[in-house]
Amino acid sequence: MNKPRLATLWLDGCSGCHMSLLDTDERLLDLAARVDLVYSPLVDCKLYPEAVDIACIEGAVSTAEDECRLRSVRERTKCLIALGDCAVTGNVPAMRNTWGTDTVLRSVYLEREALAARIPTEDLPLLSDKALPLHTFVKVDFFLPGCPPSADTIFSALTALIEGRSADLRLNTGFGT
Ligand code: SF4
Repeated sequence: MNKPRLATLWLDGCSGCHMSLLDTDERLLDLAARVDLVYSPLVDCKLYPEAVDIACIEGAVSTAEDECRLRSVRERTKCLIALGDCAVTGNVPAMRNTWGTDTVLRSVYLEREALAARIPTEDLPLLSDKALPLHTFVKVDFFLPGCPPSADTIFSALTALIEGRSADLRLNTGFGT
């Protein structure tokens, strides 16, 4: 039987949710034996492939590039998980939404930096007006809240999906759609 094809990626996140995935420690070996990890910051794969079974996405959507990636992932993925509070609610990246992008950039880069003050733009994607959670743009199948979600939560959720127990996951987390 083919193993489920698993992908993980982050948009506007701090990588803490991926660190929590790594915190599953020796259980990673169990996971690795049961899935094909086809795309992730943890593996050397440049392009998101077709026909992915499960994708865990960390981080909010903060740029047009993030939105484009998210929509492309959604089209190629059966089950999409919003991993962590930034993906679920916007969380830390969305804190700038209250003041607006220009005000925050000016405050951070111009008003607090005495020498060579300038807003960095080179090779950087432009920030959107607001940082927003994944479900603003695409259908999300499961939400795993937490900053970050615990290693146990991530492991239990992935195990349930791998074993075809998505109904259990919906029941246990109360955050499925
Ligand atoms: S939810 Fe918390 S740990 Fe995860 S990316 Fe956001 S800030 Fe980092």
